[in-house]
Amino acid sequence: MSMNTQGRPTDVGEAETSYRPKTFTGNRGLDMEEPLIFEFGHFDTMGVDLDEPEDFAPELGSHARAAELELPGLAEPEAMRHYVRLSRNNYAIDSGLYPLGSCTMKHNPRLNEKMARLPGFGDIHPLQPLSTVQGAVELIDDLARWLMVSTGTSAVAMSPKAGAHGELCGMMAIKAAHKAADRNPTMVLVPESAHGTNPATAALLGYKVVSIDAKDDGTVDLASVKATIAEHAGNVAAIMLTNPNTCGLFEREIIEIADAVHAADAYFYCDGANFNAIVGKARPGDLGVDAMHINLHKTFSTPHGGGGPGSGPVVLSERLAPFAPLPFIRKTDDGPVLVETEADTIEGEQPFGRMTAFHGQMGMFVRALAYMMSHGSDGLKQASEDAVLNANYVRVGLQDLMSLPFGERPCMHEVLFDDSFLKDTGVTTLDFAKAMIDEGYHPMTMYFPLVVHGAMLIEPTESESRAALDLFIATMRDLVMSAQRKETDRFSGAPYLAPRRRLDETTAARKPVLKWTPPAPAEVTPAAAE
Ligand SMILES: *Cc1c(COP(=O)(O)O)cnc(C)c1O
Repeated sequence: MSMNTQGRPTDVGEAETSYRPKTFTGNRGLDMEEPLIFEFGHFDTMGVDLDEPEDFAPELGSHARAAELELPGLAEPEAMRHYVRLSRNNYAIDSGLYPLGSCTMKHNPRLNEKMARLPGFGDIHPLQPLSTVQGAVELIDDLARWLMVSTGTSAVAMSPKAGAHGELCGMMAIKAAHKAADRNPTMVLVPESAHGTNPATAALLGYKVVSIDAKDDGTVDLASVKATIAEHAGNVAAIMLTNPNTCGLFEREIIEIADAVHAADAYFYCDGANFNAIVGKARPGDLGVDAMHINLHKTFSTPHGGGGPGSGPVVLSERLAPFAPLPFIRKTDDGPVLVETEADTIEGEQPFGRMTAFHGQMGMFVRALAYMMSHGSDGLKQASEDAVLNANYVRVGLQDLMSLPFGERPCMHEVLFDDSFLKDTGVTTLDFAKAMIDEGYHPMTMYFPLVVHGAMLIEPTESESRAALDLFIATMRDLVMSAQRKETDRFSGAPYLAPRRRLDETTAARKPVLKWTPPAPAEVTPAAAE
């Protein structure tokens, strides 16, 4: 296998020959091989022509830079191409179906982008005088109202910057509420099927995580919840539960679970990442939820970005509302007032502190509200119905060939398969997912939730047309039949057609190489290169 100077493979190995020729440039057709900017930029190149400064005497004294900065420079067209080529290596919801379960990879309407770029929203600064940003404050308040109405709750903390950050915020409010009541429970109940951020959040706050079993049908075991609460009487702070759960199933006993938790003076934290399945259909507040984060970047179509910025506002029940973090907006007869410090609070307001320096992700607030207003409440409800319909369409299209761990019954907005259909084929869940890449699909979520062996969680979202779903189903069927015919080559070395082959993800995670080091001079002389 040939490597570039960074040790990255530039060909796709032996199996490639049957697919595509090796090329002189390392490019594959219009799929360009792109080096790091450090590999081809020059310290003395600049994208702009500036005259040498005359008689310039910096006033930095001993702090003045003594050596070259050594940043690689590119001419403007080179810089343009570099970033465009890199962007083409990115798979995105704008390039194709992105069935990543639990992530709600839905279309991000361009209208939202247009609104977020309006100068009155896009160009403001969080330290600007309040009198100059009244519109922005009102927008935050409007969005808060949409969130409270759709969830049936009394308050909302807008500042958390992701779902996991929202979990932390909600659990800190719960901790503050216990403290205010002179209680100090030490345990948090978390079902087996929970997202990893749930136990991590509880542990971060010093709680002991107690795992709750799932029943054979994939839902949380109410008897196990009750027994665990009884066993640790008075010592349970909260339950953290996802509904619909991570198996794509609605927790039918949720009200009984909430009642059992409340009877023990504990709180019900709901992981709201799957809210897309129930918007306009069920209000978490009516189900007994005390706190729930909403991933605006999932349910309300704001972009997920490359790890951020997300936005995870947390809705709170009446019991938790007083503990909402700073800053928050207080309703008065004279309009909304922004409360930014402890000193500004009044009787009944006991914020536990603050989660972020300022007010949260303003750009995401604008996008989410634009999405809500352009859909209207009826449109939001229809989006949820279509998301559930699409997931069931995929389920029915595949269930005769792929295995459903909990039987052929309706799912919510995502469908969970396990790997028993791959038994004795020699193909693993990972191989199967990698072969999907060759077919032009981002794989589904794999190996999550942990309650199912070889989990494959597919969430098509409401964005996909019937034609797109039909092609996806046909592709999946072709792959399954190929695996069952034991055409293992198609899987074991996949992806063959991606810019990169299968990576050593374990080493990448354990020994990440985060810094570029220039190759030793000997390696770049023409003689050595031959
Ligand atoms: C996405 C997700 C989270 C975490 O949300 P982030 O915004 O990624 O921090 C938590 N729980 C579930 C079930 C999720 O799908």
